[in-house]
Amino acid sequence: MSEPHINSYYAATANDATRYPRLQGSLTVDVCVIGGGFSGISTAITMAERGYSIALLEANRIGWGASGRNGGQMIYGFSGEGNLKAQLGAEGARLIRDLRYRGHDIIESRIKTHGISCDLKHGWMEMAAREKHMAGLRAHYEEMVADGHGDHWELVEPEALPGLLGTKAYHGGMIDRRSGHLHPLNLAKGEAAAAAKLGVKIFEDSSVIEMQGGAKPFARTAEGRVEACSIVLAGSTEHKFERGPLFGLTFPTGSYIIATEPLSESLAAELNPQDLAVADSNIVLDYYRLTADRRMLFGGRCNYSNRDPASLTSALQPRLVEIFPQLRDTAIAYEWGGRIDIVLNRIPAIGRLEPNVYFTQGYCGHGVNMSHIAAEILSDAICGTTEKFDMFDRIRHIRLPIGRWAGNQLLALGMVYYRLRDLL
Ligand SMILES: Cc1cc2nc3c(=O)[nH]c(=O)nc-3n(C[C@H](O)[C@H](O)[C@H](O)COP(=O)(O)OP(=O)(O)OC[C@H]3O[C@@H](n4cnc5c(N)ncnc54)[C@H](O)[C@@H]3O)c2cc1C
Repeated sequence: MSEPHINSYYAATANDATRYPRLQGSLTVDVCVIGGGFSGISTAITMAERGYSIALLEANRIGWGASGRNGGQMIYGFSGEGNLKAQLGAEGARLIRDLRYRGHDIIESRIKTHGISCDLKHGWMEMAAREKHMAGLRAHYEEMVADGHGDHWELVEPEALPGLLGTKAYHGGMIDRRSGHLHPLNLAKGEAAAAAKLGVKIFEDSSVIEMQGGAKPFARTAEGRVEACSIVLAGSTEHKFERGPLFGLTFPTGSYIIATEPLSESLAAELNPQDLAVADSNIVLDYYRLTADRRMLFGGRCNYSNRDPASLTSALQPRLVEIFPQLRDTAIAYEWGGRIDIVLNRIPAIGRLEPNVYFTQGYCGHGVNMSHIAAEILSDAICGTTEKFDMFDRIRHIRLPIGRWAGNQLLALGMVYYRLRDLL
């Protein structure tokens, strides 16, 4: 049974109510994409632009998963960069440099080409939650300047903080003016509409229940079947195909968001005058931003044990008020959560499940940019250019062959350790 969009600020302000049909009957295409989030939709667009025939099967609605629920922070680079460099050396460092802003470029060009309205604003900032974190931020800033990003990166010394954010919670920070924030569900829906215009056959309410690669790849739903030369598994945390290299690899982890009632213009300007997306430097981090209608959209508190808090507002609002006491009496209008796809070494997992079946997942909460990068890497691989794909495919991932439930309990223990470290 398919599910509607979760009750979120995004669903309430979605600007496209298009329903795509359920798959019924058989279809033959070049590429069958499983999953209607950023990874799947972006792969479908890229391949359709290159002249391939595409079917996209989504179990629920376009943007139903993390892509339609996230913090909307479009952040440069990807998670696990240190581990990737440790494994691939200079080649890995070059890969990171080449890809760092590729997702931003793809998103911005789609918004422009297809007239997608999704409230894109530039400016993202990481704040030092502890004084000792500032040294790490300084070193990272120097690295970005050395890599040629000095024109859009700024270091924020503690004395420059007043006037940047209406809080005394931090000890400095760094700003990337090329990253930013957007309405993710409207981006996903806008990209899906663009894909449909390019000829992609999109199906909602079409959960894939069987899928096979090899010489004659196919994907089967309750009422239909797609035969294709290649299959792309872009189902993130929700698909049920954890076999082969995917077994024990990815651990779905709860992350939660609240959104206030719209703030007055003056209060919004006091809290976040430059309208930046903000994340702090903790491992169990807070992330927040203002929406286009001036709500404070505040997220955090990953729950690695996979047990959702009984009340998300009770779990998150005290932390919001700790940072912004000005919001003590502001009502929370929406609360929702989703699953982040955590892999243990944090490097996005891009590879081949079996002949002619490709997968991508494991963005560890950095998927707005990374999903679009991964989609291009997979599209290139299907078209025969495998250089970047091969690098990700070569990564040695850590797998826990103990099933998701037990893995999540171990992860929860690990996060208690990191949470304590954040607090010390
Ligand atoms: C609360 C939250 C906050 C986040 N904040 C940020 C942020 O601020 N910035 C950032 O960069 N990243 C953030 N992320 C992460 C980011 O949203 C994800 O990494 C990204 O959206 C993953 O995209 P995806 O397309 O791979 O997966 P999803 O968007 O999860 O899409 C997968 C889709 O596959 C479908 N599916 C699953 N199984 C099947 C099947 N068998 N058949 C057919 N369809 C199937 C699902 O219904 C789903 O719609 C956040 C995530 C969460 C949950």
